Amino acid sequence: MIKTCTKCGTDKPDTDYYANRNACKECIKAKASAWYAANAAYVSQRDTMSRRVSTTDGVHRPRTLTRRKLAEWFLEHRTEPVNGCLEVTGMEPGSHGYYSTRFERKTIRLHRLIFAELVGHLPDTDQVHHTCANRACIRPGHLQRVTQRENMAEMQERNAYRARISELESALRALSPEHTLLGGPSNGTGPRDSEAHTG
Ligand SMILES: [Zn+2]
Ligand SMILES: [Zn+2]
Repeated sequence: MIKTCTKCGTDKPDTDYYANRNACKECIKAKASAWYAANAAYVSQRDTMSRRVSTTDGVHRPRTLTRRKLAEWFLEHRTEPVNGCLEVTGMEPGSHGYYSTRFERKTIRLHRLIFAELVGHLPDTDQVHHTCANRACIRPGHLQRVTQRENMAEMQERNAYRARISELESALRALSPEHTLLGGPSNGTGPRDSEAHTG
């Protein structure tokens, strides 16, 4: 599937995008590089000072941060507002489009960390859903806990909806092969993720 990058305006295949992102990988990497360049002093300090981290605004990340302080630190120092969301900046997302960090020798996803520390109780079995459908966002108000069961139900509903649409599309194709509603890059079924949210 081809989609248009919202940053550079180029038409590119799906594989050139991180999951659920509207800017292409190239633009996201360019944004990360620009951030690193603009914060070079901080970055070199961070890399040489090991766990004692400071930022360009002089705020020091203590040697040991509680989970809660870490969540607050990310919100304060690693986000920028974008269309009502607070998008993570200065980092590259993982292949699923989520941002992670290391804490106590484990990799944790930032949106789960933020939810668990600043929004509410989060059992390991439950998932955190982005109400804004933007996986780069860690604004606490855009995060919602869903049980695995709710998430599966939502996914099944979405898949049933998609199946119905493709059924209707083939019927339309049979009647009117040139119809303008056919063959667009998007069939209007909403978020592109057909899998359950794994976050
Ligand atoms: Zn682009
Ligand atoms: Zn958001």
